[in-house]
Amino acid sequence: MFRFLHFDSLQKAARTLSQRQRTLLTGALVLILFSVGVLWVTARVTEASSLAALLNRGDQDLQLYIANIRRELDRYEYLPKVLVDDYRVSRTLHNPEDKDARATLNTYLKFVARSSGASDIYLMDTAGITLAASNWDQPDSFIGDDYSFRPYFKQAIKGQPGDYFALGMSSGQRGYYFAYPVREHEKVIGVMVVKVPLASLEEERGGGHYEFLVTDPDGVIFLATEPRWRYHTLTPLAEDQRKRIEAGRRYLDFPLVPLPATHVAPFAGNAQLMTLTIDGRGVTYLLRGVEMPQAGWTVYILLNIAPVATDVTHAVLLAAFSLGVLVLLSLILLQRRARLDERVRYEHAAMEAAEASEARIRATIASTRAGLVTLDARGHIESFNPTAESLFERLSTQVTGLTLGDLLTPESASVFSAMVRAASHPHAQPHPQPLVELTGRRDGGETFPLEAAINRMTSLEAMHFIVTLHDISERKEQEAALQQAHDQLERRVAERTGDLLDTNRRLTHEIEEHRRTEAELRHTRNELIQTAKLAAIGELAAGINHELNQPLTAIRFYAGNAKTFMHKSQVHKVEENLDHIDGLTEHMGRIISQLKLFARKSSGKPVPVSMNAVIDGALTLLEPRLQRQQVAVIRHLPVQEVLCLGDMVRLEQVLVNLIGNALQAMESVPDAALYLEVTTAEGLVMTAIRDRGPGIPEDQLAQIFDPFFTTKEIGEGLGLGLSISLRIIEELGGTLRAHNHPEGGAVLTLELATAPAHEAHND
Ligand code: ADP
Repeated sequence: MFRFLHFDSLQKAARTLSQRQRTLLTGALVLILFSVGVLWVTARVTEASSLAALLNRGDQDLQLYIANIRRELDRYEYLPKVLVDDYRVSRTLHNPEDKDARATLNTYLKFVARSSGASDIYLMDTAGITLAASNWDQPDSFIGDDYSFRPYFKQAIKGQPGDYFALGMSSGQRGYYFAYPVREHEKVIGVMVVKVPLASLEEERGGGHYEFLVTDPDGVIFLATEPRWRYHTLTPLAEDQRKRIEAGRRYLDFPLVPLPATHVAPFAGNAQLMTLTIDGRGVTYLLRGVEMPQAGWTVYILLNIAPVATDVTHAVLLAAFSLGVLVLLSLILLQRRARLDERVRYEHAAMEAAEASEARIRATIASTRAGLVTLDARGHIESFNPTAESLFERLSTQVTGLTLGDLLTPESASVFSAMVRAASHPHAQPHPQPLVELTGRRDGGETFPLEAAINRMTSLEAMHFIVTLHDISERKEQEAALQQAHDQLERRVAERTGDLLDTNRRLTHEIEEHRRTEAELRHTRNELIQTAKLAAIGELAAGINHELNQPLTAIRFYAGNAKTFMHKSQVHKVEENLDHIDGLTEHMGRIISQLKLFARKSSGKPVPVSMNAVIDGALTLLEPRLQRQQVAVIRHLPVQEVLCLGDMVRLEQVLVNLIGNALQAMESVPDAALYLEVTTAEGLVMTAIRDRGPGIPEDQLAQIFDPFFTTKEIGEGLGLGLSISLRIIEELGGTLRAHNHPEGGAVLTLELATAPAHEAHND
């Protein structure tokens, strides 16, 4: 399972874990490793012991099997020895041509073969030619066959008994051959052979749990309970070995290849573990071989080790279960121990805390700056801390047994006994008791102020009281000093308040005076404005007088004409003259309408006003003068109407003033021209009125806005026009400035705030 944990991520996780978690993780890892180790060892030990037990059982089976083979061979080994002594044998050998003798022997051999269970019995002469055989009447009879090449013959002809496993030449059936020499006077005259069937030895089956096989001295398997293993070898044959076996035709044409073993490993006690491929799958056997010295064979048992794997699985499962139980028990024990440890630690800590708290209380009582006195139920002093000792200037030994009242003035003593009574009342609240001021008495009779609180100690068996005492002499002194300072302060505040009230009264008076002066000023200014208006009206009236006289004279003339033409009944002439009169009255009406402008009242508060309309209005008012003086009016006005914040009437008044001044300055100028320019910039509307007059002398530029400053003849100017204009503009939140143009002439500049784009108030 550790394969799946990436080492880096494990490390990273470990860094973020707490110490406790890390210990737990280490414990778990160790436990897992230990468990894996135990299971592995269990598996290995079980496997070894199970294999050993299997081998042990296998050995017993092998011994039984060998005994079985032995018994089977022993059954036939004696047979040729017995047969060679029979007279029918020697008769046939001596007279091979005697048909009767051979027929008799044939019959006899057949009889013996049938009754003994041997496959075949036959007799050969010294050349290896079969003279008589038990199968004489069979189609594949041996009679006449030459078996001189068979090793058992070669051995028997030398005078030794021979035995040998081989496949029958003609039958191809396997058999074990026992050969025995037929002697006469120590001379071998023939060989008697008994062929034994071995099939019964191959019927031995262990139900798939084990198999047997028998190898000849060359290692060729000639007997096997598993038929597919026959005529194979356990190890590859050497080349000369193979040739020799082929020469003996022992296994006919079988190729004698090794068994299909995929894995061979040695095992204890000369055994081997061998995996053989059977029907395409590997089966592992534990292989043990025992030699049979007489025959030169080796008998093997092959134990299927599948049950071992089952044993191992069972053992591992059992071990895992036991481990689980063990771990569970250990965990329970550990937890119990941890709980016990925790309890011991907790008790220890609680004890330490209690001791520390007690020590702290003791230290607090000893070192506290408050005097602490404990009293018994009757109010007698039990203990007196060092602060209390120094407060009363008495040692605790001197006061033990006294009441606290003995250390107070008589009045305080009675107050204190009331406190004790109140505190000992069963329904008294244990905490907190109110602080009471008392007067203490020292040994020498000197008194001092105290603050005391009493509390009943309810937790103890008998009733006790604890009294807390504070020397408040210092505080009392401070309080007295504070009171003194307070009184002094109050006195000074009262003094200062008187001064302030006077000043206040004076100031109020001054403000009122100021207001009055301001009202007067405003009144004067209004009067001045009115005067200026009247002057303008006077001027206008003079102009109007001149302007109206001419049309009136003309009207009179045209009226006279009309009358005359009417008498002459020249109606169209009358109509012509009436048209002239009509035109003239209209002209007069226009002149008179200008007077209305002066009659209008301003609203007082700035409203959006079209500067173009203001200029137009002022020019209309001054039209007669402009014409009289033949002044060219040059306008530089924006294409789009410009709105400023102002008052139509008052702005017209200002412009009439400024243009009037310009016209006055250009009275004797031949090519008089008036420039009117309106520009806008940074929220302002700037109007410049420029003339071609002599300009304003530099030293007078600062004075011209002063009231009554004039350079004109008496009766021509009052010197109020610019002063009033400046006031009006300033009231509208604008500025009015004068300078001279570089090409000559004065320039008066008017600046007003741009109005938001609303409808203009032009009426
Ligand atoms: P008044 O016109 O009654 O003298 P104002 O206050 O209008 O009073 O003008 C004050 C003086 O400023 C004028 O007497 C004149 O000397 C000077 N002044 C005003 N406007 C002009 C101008 N356009 N050109 C030359 N001087 C001017």
